[in-house]
Amino acid sequence: MNEIKSVCDITIFGGHGDLAFRKLMPALYHLSSDGYLDAESRIITATRDQMTNEEHCDIVKLKLQEFLPEKAFDKDKFDRFKKQLHVVIIDFFDDESYSGLKELLTMYPQRDRINYLSTAPDFFGSICKSLSQWELITPQSRVVLEKPIGRDLESSRVINVEVLKYFEESQIYRIDHYLGKDTVQNIMALRFSNRIFMPLWDANNIDHVQITVAESVGVEGRWGYYDEYGAMRDMVQNHLMQLLCLVAMEPPCSLEADSVRDEKVKVLRSLRLMSAADIEQKTVRAQYASGSSNGEAVPGYLEGEGVEESTTETFAALRVDIDNWRWNGVPFYLRSGKRMRQRNSEIVIYFKMIPHSIFANKGKCISQNKLVISLQPKESIHLQLMNKIPGLSEQMRLQQVELELNTPLNMEHKPDAYERLLLDVIRSNPTLFMRLDEVEAAWKWADVILEGWAEDIVPMKSYSAGTDGPSAAVQLIARDGRSWHDE
Ligand code: NAP
Repeated sequence: MNEIKSVCDITIFGGHGDLAFRKLMPALYHLSSDGYLDAESRIITATRDQMTNEEHCDIVKLKLQEFLPEKAFDKDKFDRFKKQLHVVIIDFFDDESYSGLKELLTMYPQRDRINYLSTAPDFFGSICKSLSQWELITPQSRVVLEKPIGRDLESSRVINVEVLKYFEESQIYRIDHYLGKDTVQNIMALRFSNRIFMPLWDANNIDHVQITVAESVGVEGRWGYYDEYGAMRDMVQNHLMQLLCLVAMEPPCSLEADSVRDEKVKVLRSLRLMSAADIEQKTVRAQYASGSSNGEAVPGYLEGEGVEESTTETFAALRVDIDNWRWNGVPFYLRSGKRMRQRNSEIVIYFKMIPHSIFANKGKCISQNKLVISLQPKESIHLQLMNKIPGLSEQMRLQQVELELNTPLNMEHKPDAYERLLLDVIRSNPTLFMRLDEVEAAWKWADVILEGWAEDIVPMKSYSAGTDGPSAAVQLIARDGRSWHDE
């Protein structure tokens, strides 16, 4: 049996939405079944749909059967989990509708209260206000905010200021589910628990870093939502920036939340703000055109029902420079896109070439050492090294070999990122959540690029669905004499 935490009440606003059913409920089911969530804790779903508790449980059961991995649904476990489920009918526009939640929560006034806002960010302020008006916020309350928090610095400030009227910064958990992935946390373990990486992790030894988050799916019926944001706001400003921070940050003095977040924010503040000329040379934006995905023809971003003219990018590639001692002259190449050839998220650290080769063919057979941290579809870490090909050939022949740094997993089920993050909220550990200054520093950097794109400093390119993106992205890195990892 795992640790048992204090009893808490978790309210999910937007509890019948896609995220709640696909990620949050399965995560809570596992936490409960695995003993991380006390059986007395309650999971309260707030929805507009009129229904009884029994009807709600039936829906949750169906959704768990749909979204849990095969064989993970267990009838006995669900019967126990079901006892923790409650539903309240709330319309965010109707303050009076919070009375049912008030009744439930005030049954146990001392309990920790977790408010998960799985809604559009426009509702964050009004939900917090209603919670406050109904006196449902206590010192033991926490609020979890889903991304995106705004679409630029100004709009993110409006949302944050509104939430901060009712919750202290220490009670706010801004989620970035990438940080809940085991391999992402392993970046810190790798960097800060292995002496061998310490002297190598800087501009003297690292040539450049590539961070890719590629999705094979398109906008999948969420065109309206996606078109408000695009690749830069939806992916680069948050997920890719957070990954960049973990690679680039200085060692924190401890694993305390603020030690880690202090170091991350220093990286964000060291990002070189781009000039108009930089935006032109170092950024690429593109939209996918029709093509094929998994052997099937798929429409382009601007095709299909309900689609309008749009200048929203579905792909972004950038060269990012960090102006500090450690990273001076080391480019970080970032790219993210929808409808790419394959789903693939990875960080690749390219070490510098050896200064002189003593091997045949002037060392042309030698590749740079690379540390490949794969996040999706599989999580793994590989260190690519050179090694001798066994045999008696006169000239020593070399080959690239991979050192696998993966720990065999002796777990019945590998926890999903949302499980980790929900458990951290339950434990009141905000290390893996973004602090206000981090969000603002990331927007400050991204806004400059977004403004440049709005002024058409760099033209919108096109790429066929099911490919690796536009040729301009290849040129972006080729100009520096480098190529993307998968080329
Ligand atoms: P969604 O499916 O549209 O769910 C939003 C929920 O909010 C719906 O259940 C909706 O209820 C509810 N809602 C809307 N207006 C309401 C009102 N006036 N009163 C009460 N409830 C209302 O969206 P989602 O995909 O779950 O996303 C939720 C949030 O998470 C968004 O901010 C999104 O950007 C973020 N996010 C989602 C994902 C994902 O994979 N889905 C990933 C990362 C972040 P009805 O069903 O009654 O309309």
